[in-house]
Amino acid sequence: MAPVSNRDRPRHPLYALVTERANHVCEYCLAPEEVAGKEFQVEHIVPRARGGTDDLANLALACHRCNPSKWATQEALDPQSQTRAPLFNPRSDSWDVCLAFELNPADERVRIEGRNPTGRATVECLHMNAAHATRARWKWFFHDALEALFHSATSRDPEA
Ligand SMILES: [Zn+2]
Repeated sequence: MAPVSNRDRPRHPLYALVTERANHVCEYCLAPEEVAGKEFQVEHIVPRARGGTDDLANLALACHRCNPSKWATQEALDPQSQTRAPLFNPRSDSWDVCLAFELNPADERVRIEGRNPTGRATVECLHMNAAHATRARWKWFFHDALEALFHSATSRDPEA
C-alpha cells in the first residue's frame, strides 16, 4: 500500500525518482517507507545552506526520524575515537561497511551499530537507537521476514 502524502510539507519535485532509487526505504536507517504511513522526505546530503544542489547526486530518501536529526549536519563526534567524522553519505558510502543491524531478542529491539567512525557518528547524530526506533525496527524486521515467508509459501506450486 502506498503511503499517504505529507500534508504539512510540499513534495520535492524529484521525490518519485529519489524514492524509487532508494527502493522506498530510508537510506540512513533502512526503515521501509510503507510502515511509516506517510511519505518519507527528500534530504539534501550537502545542505542547500552550504551550497548543496537539487541534483539527484545530492539527494537521499530519509525517514521522519533521520531527516530532522541530520538537518544541516555533515559531520559529528565518533563516540569511540572522540574525533569528528563525516556522516554517512548514501551516495558514496556503503551501508554495510559503515553500519550493521544488531538484533536483541531479549528485549525485542533492533539497534544499529556503527562499524567505523562515520557509522558511529551517524548512529549518534541521527539518534538511530532511540527507544521507539529500536522497538519499531524489531516490528518491521519480523513483519518483512514473515511477509517473505508468506509469499514464498503461497507462490509455491502445489503439484511440485
Ligand atoms: Zn531513517
